Amino acid sequence: MRLLRRLLPHALPALVLTLAVSAPVAADQSRGLNPGRFEVLDQRIPVNVVFIGYDRQAVDLETFRSLLPATYAPVVRYPQFYGISGRDMGLAYEFAYRVEFADERFTQRFFAFLTRSGVAGPLTQFQANYNAQVTNVLDVTGPVLYLDALAVERYLEANDGRRRPGYTIYFINWFGHPGFRFHVYAKTDEVDPDTQANFGTRGSRQMIAWGGSTSRTWFYDLSAGPESWTNNWAVDAADVEGYHMPPIWEYAANGFRPPADLGFDLGLVARLVAIDLLFTTSPLYDPIVTSPEPGGSKVAHVEMLDEDPSSLGVDFINTEFMKRELRKFQPYYPWTVGLGARSVDAGAKKALDIFAGTVVDVSECWAPYPPFGTPFAQLFCYFDANLGTYIPSYGGRDYVGEILAYNAQDTSMGTQFGLLGFADDNWVNGTQTYVFMFDYPTVRQAGYGFTSTGVHEFGHHLGMSHPHDGYDSEWGVDFGPSGQTEFAWSGDESATVMHYLHLTTAFGRFDKDNLYRWETAGYLNRANALAGDVLQSGDARRVWLLLAAADLAAWGAKSSFKAWDYLNAAASARLAYTLVAAAAGHINAATPTLTSALRPLPGRRHPDGCWVREPLR
Ligand SMILES: [Zn+2]
Repeated sequence: MRLLRRLLPHALPALVLTLAVSAPVAADQSRGLNPGRFEVLDQRIPVNVVFIGYDRQAVDLETFRSLLPATYAPVVRYPQFYGISGRDMGLAYEFAYRVEFADERFTQRFFAFLTRSGVAGPLTQFQANYNAQVTNVLDVTGPVLYLDALAVERYLEANDGRRRPGYTIYFINWFGHPGFRFHVYAKTDEVDPDTQANFGTRGSRQMIAWGGSTSRTWFYDLSAGPESWTNNWAVDAADVEGYHMPPIWEYAANGFRPPADLGFDLGLVARLVAIDLLFTTSPLYDPIVTSPEPGGSKVAHVEMLDEDPSSLGVDFINTEFMKRELRKFQPYYPWTVGLGARSVDAGAKKALDIFAGTVVDVSECWAPYPPFGTPFAQLFCYFDANLGTYIPSYGGRDYVGEILAYNAQDTSMGTQFGLLGFADDNWVNGTQTYVFMFDYPTVRQAGYGFTSTGVHEFGHHLGMSHPHDGYDSEWGVDFGPSGQTEFAWSGDESATVMHYLHLTTAFGRFDKDNLYRWETAGYLNRANALAGDVLQSGDARRVWLLLAAADLAAWGAKSSFKAWDYLNAAASARLAYTLVAAAAGHINAATPTLTSALRPLPGRRHPDGCWVREPLR
């Protein structure tokens, strides 16, 4: 806003002129609004790949490079599950790669840092599991070094003099170098806000990769581990589930994978994990759907339904905490996180029972096909029909996201035992609707409360995907962590509440970059569509001032976008839209262009929620 006030008096006449003649010309990225036009924002995305400790001869760089995508255009993923395209995101990225090997001096200093910063400890359970394999090429010997994942990320960020703008992947290989120690990366600085459980101390959370806390860096170390998360301890055929990358020493003639495949495997990780799941992702849902009207707030309302007689759900949720995390993520909206609590009533209890398969009743709303035909739809259809009973009303300009929270008994979870929550859609075209979450004695014992799940599920509702499932733009493939892409689990080894590791309640750098890019393009195109309607109204002269201010805000959004200041880009694009909306409201303009711009494009697989990924013990 400060920029706006400073520039407005001088900029006004020229901008008004620009607006007056802009409708017939093609979208022009060099200026602010393009009324009535759909714009695609281009962005050049530098991706640096740095090999640390790798022998140049060991990595088939030709194969590695051949796997890297040239471009990425995000799509809204959920409508694709219905065979429709979703709203055009208006974004086109072009990658610019630099692939290099770290020099000897940096490599030595980095390994010296690992040696001195690591804390010696016993083998993890999964390193022991690896040793117990029949075909493993060596035994991991202790004590092993536990490295602080955040400290290593910070070290790389601060000490690599060759760093360039954009994103950086570090492929690390300490194995075979003097002073090598078996090691894992840990993150133990956050505990669950409800249960105080520290997941970072568990064997299953000792990692081989990390990044995205503060930096645009992700490192991936095949000389670490072996670890649990991608099953990379498993090298006996009987234990192997899908395609995963083994520890580096298993790329051997007598190993799990031929040495010649190393370049191929690292290329897959660079493309399908670092790029598709972390650096340039596609939204699960259209984030623009969750926009409050100008002047309104973004609301997450949690309605607690107590079904477990031995506990109260409100003892395991902190809505202030949720609000802090959501506000940090989208600071350009006013936020409210509301909370209500009640004993579960007969209707909500029966909806849970049908959903969980403990009661079968084909007369209920889930049964008709289409659109449902699965008990998994029962929560949606029940609460869709009875929403007013459970959710209080908020301001007319607010966007309200409804979260139904069952504080349940173990036995009530039935076939859904292990489920923590899901952010449902409308079962018609992949538009987000209600969030459901669950806490019950066994998962609470395992360390899960409602707060972290609430942030995670509302993250889905706002548009975020897991960092272990996503979309490859050039291949046109939506993929998850199983079968040929089992290694996609390694995307979880990054800083985001959207992962399953439960190591942080915050959204990370990659979440922010992606969401802000989506919102920048989304709001600019909303503003363009609405500005076109205002100009068509014949009454636009009455609101020139607002249009000119919006034009300036749109110009600011584009400048910030180009400069990778994505937070300001999103905030300015939102401002541009709110100014045009104020203009349209003032003259009561008809809005056919905006209405059509917001419609999903014309076309069953239903994703099945967010699960605890571990034996519950
Ligand atoms: Zn999830």
